[in-house]
Amino acid sequence: MISREQALRTALYELEQQREENYAQEREREDEVRAASPEIRALLDRRASLLGQGIREAFGNPEGAKALSEKITDEMRNLNVSIRSQLVLSGFSEDYLQPIVKCQECRDTGYVGELVHNLCTCVSQRILRIMMSDVGLRDLETQNFNTYDAGVYPDVPVPGRKSTQRAYMERVRQRLVQYANAFERDEGKGIILYGASGLGKTFLMNCVAERLLTRGFSVLKISAYRLYDVLRNYQYDQSESELVRDLINADLLALDDLGTEPVTRANNEQRGLYNILAERFSSRRAIIITTNLDRIQTLERYGDRIANRLYDAGRMSVYQLFGEDVRRFVKP
Ligand SMILES: [Zn+2]
Repeated sequence: MISREQALRTALYELEQQREENYAQEREREDEVRAASPEIRALLDRRASLLGQGIREAFGNPEGAKALSEKITDEMRNLNVSIRSQLVLSGFSEDYLQPIVKCQECRDTGYVGELVHNLCTCVSQRILRIMMSDVGLRDLETQNFNTYDAGVYPDVPVPGRKSTQRAYMERVRQRLVQYANAFERDEGKGIILYGASGLGKTFLMNCVAERLLTRGFSVLKISAYRLYDVLRNYQYDQSESELVRDLINADLLALDDLGTEPVTRANNEQRGLYNILAERFSSRRAIIITTNLDRIQTLERYGDRIANRLYDAGRMSVYQLFGEDVRRFVKP
């Protein structure tokens, strides 16, 4: 799991690359224009020498610098007007030689504000993208509350239920939006989404994960299958110890598909899972789980120590999803 600080460093490094790229492109454009138009070349040369002259004279004659700089500023302004009209005459756009920036807000510096430097929103977006491109979070760019559409669920009554699948899924979505918007670090409230395959459990989990990342929390998403693998390897050679630390320390652990990992009874991996859950519960760190197991099946498979923690009503909200497999309605 990449930390927000690491992502910030990467984002600022990317911006530095961006500025170099901008500069290289500006040089390229100037070369192109100089080759295309001798008139503009002369104007650009004049402007460059004027700048040099202005700087030299300002140093040599500090008293006269103000009047001088006004004279130079005037000529500079006239030169720029001529350059712009010559550019259009030569078939370029009039701002072809203007400084190139991708973000108008911060001019690719990453910061806005004169007195207090704040991170520009373009940096926050970069951070988010970097964190999402980290292992396990790639789906979040396409699976979030903005793209969630309860309309994919059939709007017909489900046998034995008061509500249609669509209306129910819309209610679940609303509850999860509330959860994600009110989420606070170390509050320890968690979610279980259970039901058969194809009902949209993982999509909803991704929505919550994305919202929390956007709000600046750390999220580790991992499948139960992969988690078992990590725990097994860890006990042999302490490999991936950083990931094991993240399993315990992330503000939200998103555990996908609990119950699909290889069946093993009372083994070390299961003890490892218990330790992670116990550690997270005792330090009040949240967990969201998708599973195809109901409470009884969880008890049978993992024993009461794990099942009691997962179904602790004071900590965990349980949503059972039901209805039809919607994957056949949705284009992959
Ligand atoms: Zn910016």
